[in-house]
Amino acid sequence: MTAASRPVTGAGHDPAVWRDRLEATDGWSVADLRALVPGRDRLLVLSAHPDDESIGAGRLLSAWRRSGGRALAVTATAGEACFDDVGVRPEGLAEARLVEWRAALAALDVEAGTAYGLPDGGLETAEDALVHAVTTTVTDLGDTDDLVLLAPHPQDPHPDHRAVGRAAAAVGARLGIPVWHFRVWMTYWSAPDVDLSGRLVTVAVDGTDDRAWDAAVRAFATQLEPQRPGWGAVVPPAMLAHHDRQLLVLPLEETP
Ligand SMILES: [Zn+2]
Repeated sequence: MTAASRPVTGAGHDPAVWRDRLEATDGWSVADLRALVPGRDRLLVLSAHPDDESIGAGRLLSAWRRSGGRALAVTATAGEACFDDVGVRPEGLAEARLVEWRAALAALDVEAGTAYGLPDGGLETAEDALVHAVTTTVTDLGDTDDLVLLAPHPQDPHPDHRAVGRAAAAVGARLGIPVWHFRVWMTYWSAPDVDLSGRLVTVAVDGTDDRAWDAAVRAFATQLEPQRPGWGAVVPPAMLAHHDRQLLVLPLEETP
């Protein structure tokens, strides 16, 4: 960090902090995941902010699509509050982030669904509206027998991510839809002994999915590039360095 740089996001762990925990995970293929949920070929991926799905689940989304599965993404907010900690909301930021989101989803070959327009930074106080919005999305898809929900983990360090993780779990439990969770800030900010209440696995993907992940993540210029002279990035390289593989937390009771 130079003397002039102003961090927008708090510092986190070196990836080595999580090395032992990640080396202890089982490797699952997309075929293994499909076998866990027979007949369910559609992923509905829920984000708190445009970019959660790409950073945390982009490799899986790419591999899922290439395996013939369908995937639809929704985002609870437009991510308009990402610079609130430094006291600024750049003009047009919400619109820019949604443009980035659609470009990233195109790179992953994932359909862009609804942006709910709930308040960035305020999802914990809008959880009823969030559950209602997710329920509406699911209901509008019609048959839920082919669906799997994919959402940030309810223990992710970001409160908005936790709210989306809980909302997904609530809707999934009520409607009988499996829910898989991905990490966003978890390995960067949380200690490896965090209670995941599930089975942490590494999903095996190939180079095509790594490249799709990279292309999707690079679409989020407002998050990866300093937006003012002297600022750091919202999503710093040190955080992205954690995302060199696809992790997933599966429900304990449904895994062999
Ligand atoms: Zn986020």
